[in-house]
Amino acid sequence: MFHSKAYSTAGKTSPLAPASIPRRDPTANDVCIEILFCGICHSDLHYARDEWHEVMPAVYPCVPGHEIVGRVTEVGPAVTKYKAGDVVGVGCLVDSDRTCRHCQEGLEQFCPGMVLTYGSPDRHGTAPVTYGGYSDSIIVDERFVLRIPSNLHLAGAAPLLCAGITTYSPMRHWNVGAGKKVGVVGLGGLGHMGVKFAHALGAHTVVFTTSPGKAEDAKRLGADEVVVSKNADEMGKHAGSFDFILDCVAAQHDVNAYIGLLARDGNLTMVGAPDKPLPVAVFGLLFGRRSFSGSLIGGLAETQEMLDFCGKHGITADVEVIPIQRVNEAYDRMVKSDVKYRFSIDMASLKSE
Ligand code: NAP
Ligand code: ZN
Repeated sequence: MFHSKAYSTAGKTSPLAPASIPRRDPTANDVCIEILFCGICHSDLHYARDEWHEVMPAVYPCVPGHEIVGRVTEVGPAVTKYKAGDVVGVGCLVDSDRTCRHCQEGLEQFCPGMVLTYGSPDRHGTAPVTYGGYSDSIIVDERFVLRIPSNLHLAGAAPLLCAGITTYSPMRHWNVGAGKKVGVVGLGGLGHMGVKFAHALGAHTVVFTTSPGKAEDAKRLGADEVVVSKNADEMGKHAGSFDFILDCVAAQHDVNAYIGLLARDGNLTMVGAPDKPLPVAVFGLLFGRRSFSGSLIGGLAETQEMLDFCGKHGITADVEVIPIQRVNEAYDRMVKSDVKYRFSIDMASLKSE
């Protein structure tokens, strides 16, 4: 066991603060990674502030961070895919049972034994729970390590490990592509990646935002149309017309307004994870045989596919790079939807702690 520098929170109302955390010594299949950048996901905030208490109670101390990009410093003797010096990524998962139906189908995110990058019981007994990427290093089994295409800038590649795969996976599942009309609700970290993917996949892409000031950016990111969702007339023009809508909103909002915009057999997928239940008016689903569903990150193989797609199309997140000392301020700005469009922590800033 050795110690890493990190930022950790002691409780739901405590700020993130410098800490020293235990990491396991590498085993045969492990990759040791020096973390260079870590994105800030709204899930980090939901978890650190225990907003998901009813479904996923937080365990403290908590080191968030599951959008990790770094450089391999050392590998265990059985590692075959990576060597020292490689640039790699780690997302939301660091282990799974590897035997269940979901793991066998490459859908590790649905494995009952999945180990999340932070807040999951630590199978190696180094700490009560796993600790995430707001840290200078992490040890991960090579099976849960991803390769980052060499043409991507690293600060902007980090958010692909969660925001990227979480939006790419449902779009592939629901066959987003040319000839489809696709909506993306909420232009935050996830939403702006959703726009880039929908556009790159060839769909007619419409952004729904509560922030009129983001309209120009939405077009630059790849939207064909932008709708300010508070404007009922603008919303009404799109009634019954969407094949697919991806809802990336982190807070309470009216999903029925979007269900009404779906065409016959259209689907609305939630990736946003508000802490309280959202009322769904069933009649909106009955008329038009529409469906309302959810999606959770993506499996390892699909995450690599997404990264390679990003390499091919030159896609990264639009990031505001910050030192870790500004992480609490970044959280407060995220709550106010004031992020363009993802914070990425430059982990070199941790050296001065
Ligand atoms: P984010 O960067 O904070 O973006 C959320 C966006 O939602 C905001 O920028 C805002 O966009 C919109 N919004 C915020 N409050 C709203 C409100 N009251 N009504 C309507 N719109 C509102 O968050 P994120 O990191 O993209 O994450 C979004 C959600 O996805 C979070 O709940 C997160 O936990 C969840 N998530 C889920 C998965 C998964 O696997 N399913 C993975 C990662 C994250 P506008 O300004 O454009 O309105
Ligand atoms: Zn995330």
